[in-house]
Amino acid sequence: MIKVVEMVRCIDGCIRCCTETEMLLTPSDVRRIRSTGFSLSYFCESRGGVYRIRNVGGRCVFLNLVEGKCLIYSIRPVGCRAYPIVYDLDVGAVTVDRSCPSWSSISSSEFAAKARMLLEALREIGLPDA
Ligand code: SF4
Ligand code: SF4
Repeated sequence: MIKVVEMVRCIDGCIRCCTETEMLLTPSDVRRIRSTGFSLSYFCESRGGVYRIRNVGGRCVFLNLVEGKCLIYSIRPVGCRAYPIVYDLDVGAVTVDRSCPSWSSISSSEFAAKARMLLEALREIGLPDA
């Protein structure tokens, strides 16, 4: 069971991390979202051998454009919960995505907790070097 940690202080109205998202989905993410009635083909696409969340019109399929909010906030993917902590596949390490305007609000304890959560999710996906 992945422990959820959420502390980043988001900027009101920011949808940056829900735009052109490359967010990976764990098998647990997929099961949890499907259990609410969404079909796999609606929210999921397979790229590079792993499931990723689908974009529509350059935005995550779950982003409510009117309110700028996540339609599945309470059950959103682990990677969305961990953001702006990300795993850089090229470098092979957990890091902070500085394209998030609130990245500097991340404390060292939040980084550590989210890094653990993210690495657990990547192991569930089966990415070899995570
Ligand atoms: S995590 Fe960062 S990029 Fe995402 S909504 Fe919050 S402030 Fe914006
Ligand atoms: S699932 Fe929600 S938080 Fe994650 S990218 Fe989509 S709209 Fe944003």
